[in-house]
Formats: sequence, structure tokens, C-alpha cells
Amino acid sequence: MRLLLVEDEPTLRASLRTALQDAGYVIDEADNGRDAHFLGDTENFDAVVLDLGLPVMDGLTVLKRWRSAGRTMPVLILTARDNWHEKVAGIDAGADDYLTKPFHMEELLARLRALIRRANGQASAVLQCGLLMLDTRTSRVTLDGQAVPLTSHEYKVLEYLLHRPHKVVSRTELTEHIYAQDFERDSNTIEVFVGRLRKKLPSTTIETVRGMGYRLVPPP
Ligand code: CA
Repeated sequence: MRLLLVEDEPTLRASLRTALQDAGYVIDEADNGRDAHFLGDTENFDAVVLDLGLPVMDGLTVLKRWRSAGRTMPVLILTARDNWHEKVAGIDAGADDYLTKPFHMEELLARLRALIRRANGQASAVLQCGLLMLDTRTSRVTLDGQAVPLTSHEYKVLEYLLHRPHKVVSRTELTEHIYAQDFERDSNTIEVFVGRLRKKLPSTTIETVRGMGYRLVPPP
């Protein structure tokens, strides 16, 4: 899952980056509203963490512009303490959730998981496809109750597919959500990860839809 992190305070941005990367997200960053607006307008993110007090363009304006341009990614805003006006304005501008500074990293991670689930029509923290289960809280994957050990890239591919059951996901889309913008993106590496997943799961679990991409099929 790919996140946009928008925060102008360097120390907080660095600690957020570390915590989010440790949780398995790939991160693009902005430290001002103009860059944030551009990234959110041109790239596809699974969620955005948006500080409201930003240089160049404030977070509320950024959010309003995204929404009026039809950008629907889930956005969690970070607001200053004791500023309830900001929360109301943020939610009215199209924010999906908010956190008041200072906050606990665990709470941010839990809220992000919930936002991403709901954006994909999933209510439960455990993603399931037949006997295949992925617990987004523990990053644990099981098949018929047996643990399936995965590398972080294999996990990211499977998690993305499990968030979109029955849908065909193209290699380009997978690549976009598994690598940050700065990384060299090569959709051939996705084939490698899918190949490895097919060795660890029943081979029919990830179906290739010719010319279109991949689809998850409940394992037998
Ligand atoms: Ca700020």
C-alpha cells in the first residue's frame, strides 16, 4: 500500500516515515502544500496523511482542491490541539478521519488500516479469500490455518490483491501501489513476486487474465 505523507515539521515527518515504512507502507512525502497537491493530483495513493498547517498552501486548501478535482483517496488530517474548528472544517472539506497532535503512532496506524479497508469495501481487519487469510493488524498470512511465510514484497502484492477480491488488477496498478515514486519501477518484477507467491500458495490462487492483469481466486 502506498501512502502520501504531508508534514512540514522535519522531526515529526521523519518519525512518521519510519513508523509507516516499518508497518509495510511505501511512502511519498511532501513538506509543503503545493508539492502535496501536485503529488495527490497526479499519483495514485491508497491513503494520505495530511497536516493542515503547511507552508505555501494550507492543508485545507489542498484537500478541497483534490476533492473538487474528483480525487477520492482516503485522507486522514493531522490537526493542532484544541482547535476543533479545524477538525470540522477538515471533515467538511472531505477528510475521512482526523488525529489531534500529539498522537500515538499505534492509533495512526490503526486508523489508516481502517480507512484503507473501508475505501476498498472491507469492514474486517482480516482479509479473506476462501481459506486464505491475511490479518492486516499482525501482517500474518495463513492458508487453512497454516502460516504462510512471505517476504515484504510478496506480502504487499498479496495484500493489494486481497483488498480487491474478484477484481482484475493490472501489473501497472500493482507496481504503482508497491513502489514509491522515487523507486525505479519495473512491472516485470511484479511477475517475479507473483511467481513466488504461486509457489507458496495453491498455484491457481492468482489467476492471470490475459492482457489485463491478475485476479485472486479462492484456493481449493
Ligand atoms: Ca505543520
